[in-house]
Amino acid sequence: MDRCIYLDHNATTPIAPEVIEAMQPFLHEHWGNPSSLHAMGSKAKRAVDQARRSVARFIGASDPNEIVFTSSGTEANNLALRGVAKAMPQKLDLITSSVEHSAVLEPMNALAEEGFKLEHVPVHASGAINSTVFAEALENAKNPVLASFMWANNETGVVFPVKTLAEAVKEKGGLFHCDAVQAAGKLGIDVQQVPVDLLTISGHKLYAPKGIGALYVRRGTRMGSLVKGGHQERGRRGGTENVPFIVGLGCACELAMKKLAEDAAREERLRDRLEQGILALYDQAVVAGGNSERLPNTSNICFRHMEGEAVLMMLDDHGICVSTGAACESGSIEPSHVLKAMNIETSLINGAIRFSVGRYTTEDEIDCVLEKLPLVLDRLKELSPHF
Ligand code: PLP
Repeated sequence: MDRCIYLDHNATTPIAPEVIEAMQPFLHEHWGNPSSLHAMGSKAKRAVDQARRSVARFIGASDPNEIVFTSSGTEANNLALRGVAKAMPQKLDLITSSVEHSAVLEPMNALAEEGFKLEHVPVHASGAINSTVFAEALENAKNPVLASFMWANNETGVVFPVKTLAEAVKEKGGLFHCDAVQAAGKLGIDVQQVPVDLLTISGHKLYAPKGIGALYVRRGTRMGSLVKGGHQERGRRGGTENVPFIVGLGCACELAMKKLAEDAAREERLRDRLEQGILALYDQAVVAGGNSERLPNTSNICFRHMEGEAVLMMLDDHGICVSTGAACESGSIEPSHVLKAMNIETSLINGAIRFSVGRYTTEDEIDCVLEKLPLVLDRLKELSPHF
């Protein structure tokens, strides 16, 4: 495919050239099994240990052994929730938000079906968490609590006050998991400042490959393993380590530490330029979560009376890649549960487009989108009964 203008970094990022370079030797030459006792094994083990130190440093963990490598963010979320719920001697009361990613919502629902009490905390129209309902859920819990709240929302970029939420849960003696998949690399994460017990990151949102994730597990947290049959990752995740991808994730974390402030400032400037440009050219557009603290790279724009899929397809024809605010579930297009939870009108949700800029997005690309978008919107207006 010819070079496209890629504004879908919350779906996945390209692999950084530095990451590819760091991974190469572990595909070609150093392909040993880290569990082998010979030189080839030791070389691989040293690389995994080094990557573990990089991931730990990236999130402020004091001990690299608090990092468990997984196959994805989804697996890390499942391991955190199921692994802890199953390891605790008593039943837990589960609390989460109604706007989590399905990688949290679904394991939570599965635990609820197995008899755990589950509370979903709603959000306000701004996307901010309803802290009154959160406090009530915590107050009413009869058993120890396992709470899971995302650092930042993948669809709107709205940031939750995870420090405050985690502190409240810890005060009550509960456990706190945070899905930081979208925040990692865009906002600073420090588990010394924010008292999470468990925290998830994913490689492919961070310029590392797809198929690698990591779970931070604070020392002393009881957690079983879901993937049994090997004793890797200190018995917390069986399976021979994916050495090249682990090395890639370690390198991506090192890069993110170096570039975070610069990337965030640049991305925010480009995002704001795009957002303001779009609002100027379509006066019926609304930014979902636009008045809340957001990730610097994300803008979810609801085009009233437009079909999101049609906008997406026509932008795609112009070589511009974005997402809609809808998810394809069992063959049908379902409006986004996140935008529904924010009580956004259907006529806006149907026209939601998520733009997410990234490390390599340029100002010229943003200007090109602002040039092409009126062509798309004018064509769709011609076809619509609303105009
Ligand atoms: N959590 C959030 C907030 C996400 O945005 C995603 C992916 O979109 C995931 C979890 C799942 O991560 P992975 O694709 O690595 O399984």
